Amino acid sequence: MVDLDYCVVGAGFAGLTAALRLKQAGHSVTLLEARDRIGGRTFTVNRDDGTWIDRGGAWIGPGQDRIDALMEEFGIPSYKQYVDGDAMMFIDGKTYRYHGTIPMSMSPFAVANLGVVFLELTRMCKSIPPEAPWTAPKAHKWDQVTWAKWLDGNTLSTPARQLLESAVSGLYTSAASELSLLFCLYQMAAAGGPSFVLGVKDAAEDARPVGGMGAIHRAVAAELGDVVQLSQPVRSIAQDAEGVTVRSEDRVVRARRAIVTVPIAIASHILYEPMLPVDRSFLHQRMPSGAVFKIAMVFDEPFWRADGLSGQSFAPGSAANLTIDSCTDTGSPGILTAITEGLEARELCKLSDADRRKAVLAAVAERFGDKALSPLDYIEHNWTVERYSGGGMIAHTPPGVLTEYGPALRRPCGRIHWAGTESSALMYGFIDGAVRSGERAAAEVVEHEAMATS
Ligand SMILES: Cc1cc2nc3c(=O)[nH]c(=O)nc-3n(C[C@H](O)[C@H](O)[C@H](O)COP(=O)(O)OP(=O)(O)OC[C@H]3O[C@@H](n4cnc5c(N)ncnc54)[C@H](O)[C@@H]3O)c2cc1C
Repeated sequence: MVDLDYCVVGAGFAGLTAALRLKQAGHSVTLLEARDRIGGRTFTVNRDDGTWIDRGGAWIGPGQDRIDALMEEFGIPSYKQYVDGDAMMFIDGKTYRYHGTIPMSMSPFAVANLGVVFLELTRMCKSIPPEAPWTAPKAHKWDQVTWAKWLDGNTLSTPARQLLESAVSGLYTSAASELSLLFCLYQMAAAGGPSFVLGVKDAAEDARPVGGMGAIHRAVAAELGDVVQLSQPVRSIAQDAEGVTVRSEDRVVRARRAIVTVPIAIASHILYEPMLPVDRSFLHQRMPSGAVFKIAMVFDEPFWRADGLSGQSFAPGSAANLTIDSCTDTGSPGILTAITEGLEARELCKLSDADRRKAVLAAVAERFGDKALSPLDYIEHNWTVERYSGGGMIAHTPPGVLTEYGPALRRPCGRIHWAGTESSALMYGFIDGAVRSGERAAAEVVEHEAMATS
């Protein structure tokens, strides 16, 4: 006997979208979420002054048409990222203040090296089919090499090397020596090429929803109503000939099929009965996430704007790798975000809260002056230690994994189907990828159920 058509596990964007599409299509569905909030790796906190802070995923951009469509469906407008003024980069012991994507005042040798590498990455990405990167003509060769090793052979200029190493491995919040080259190329290809992922002007994520990601969560949750069950960490999923039995903290749900959207880095925390097929089971052991802090600092006004600065800065090796203007659509108060990733984030984890705050503020003040030392509010989120995220921002594959286990990423295991941004062929790792995966999985369970009963 089954009580429901479908059970969705995890209420990030993938799970919320899957449940929404199933409910809208007239199916009975329950969504079990471990945390006492929805949103997963997106988490918006509303402030008394009417502004909001996105403590996790925040930006959207061109080509991300599924998150766009969801926002349009619920009438949520977006606004453009503030980019007027100069950006700053601190690399190889030098300071650059510039406009555009890279400082053209770097040595011509470094700029030329960056240009050549960029063209080569673009060319390599074109040979990768995002639906099945493991079938690319050079997939096996590229999956045996790390991002660090590939840079060894393709960068001759030290600043170019530092920039590329930090920019790419920072995204995956891990060391360049941990990342498969094929994975990096695939993630870039899944977003249309390296321009989007490396933040090249007019191609990168450059907008935010008014009200933050929480504005979307709230609207979707209102439509889902009591479909969403919070504080229900799923412990086990058993499947038999008729359906699945999903056991959470204090619920037992019987449904025809389950869609699991938990981050792949922690998908093995659920006990599957019978055990999953070996490729899926091993995939769960082989897709780690990394370390990342996102810290919002609130000031009376965005004082950096008056100083002719955009708020964007990049300083690999520092306690604040990146900064970005994160003001709301009104531009007041001033909100500056620092993001620290990978190795530097792991170092920050070892400090006391007070020492970490001091280190981050000192790093930010070096760039923006002493005003940065006294924010009205300092809101730190350490995704590295989030039990139900398994780290942040997204999972990657180390060498050898994508070619050996990639085909298991989306393949259903009996009555268990998989969603989550890491299962998306397009926009892997982005919020848009999560939405796409939820919509794909919702269609997939219905199709499989129809096939099984016909
Ligand atoms: C700091 C940071 C910044 C980012 N910035 C951006 C950005 O600007 N733009 C962008 O596009 N992307 C960004 N991302 C990535 C983006 O947030 C993710 O790609 C996206 O939110 C993933 O959605 P998801 O639904 O696949 O997974 P998740 O959001 O992780 O959702 C999975 C859900 O499963 C739940 N769960 C886990 N275990 C269980 C269990 N056992 N039982 C029940 N529920 C469980 C979790 O609590 C969670 O709610 C960022 C991520 C981070 C961490």
